[in-house]
Amino acid sequence: MSTAKRATNSRAEKMAEKHVADLQDAGLRITPQRIAILRVLAEAEDHPDVAEIHQRVQGDDPKISIATAYRTVAALEQAGMIHRHTFEGASARFERVNKKHHDHIVDLDTGEIVEFHSDLIEQLQADIAAALGYELVHHRLELYCRKRPQTP
Ligand SMILES: [Zn+2]
Repeated sequence: MSTAKRATNSRAEKMAEKHVADLQDAGLRITPQRIAILRVLAEAEDHPDVAEIHQRVQGDDPKISIATAYRTVAALEQAGMIHRHTFEGASARFERVNKKHHDHIVDLDTGEIVEFHSDLIEQLQADIAAALGYELVHHRLELYCRKRPQTP
């Protein structure tokens, strides 16, 4: 086995240990299905829906049914481990909560979800809340966009 391969394995093992610890912290029973779905979402660079999550866990365990995927995602969501996004015109999409805070742009033509972060917007939202006598607890911001025509 090459060193690179071994490094990959140990990283995968560390991630699995982290998923187990996170499940324990959330007070959830540790099941292979939950670990598999957390792995998929930790590795996802997009925001998969349940059908996509189900497809991606097949490598871990082809016996995980779509019904189990729905149930498992619901349990992880209820425990606050994953976020459900209901972007307009799309099925519910999911991502891990322990990613760095970001907001989303939804491409109306392709359905692509683009992540962004703006200190200016973060500050502005806190300022608006404060001006109205509130403390900002959290927020979600979605920009529905279309690519501008490229000018040569
Ligand atoms: Zn995101």
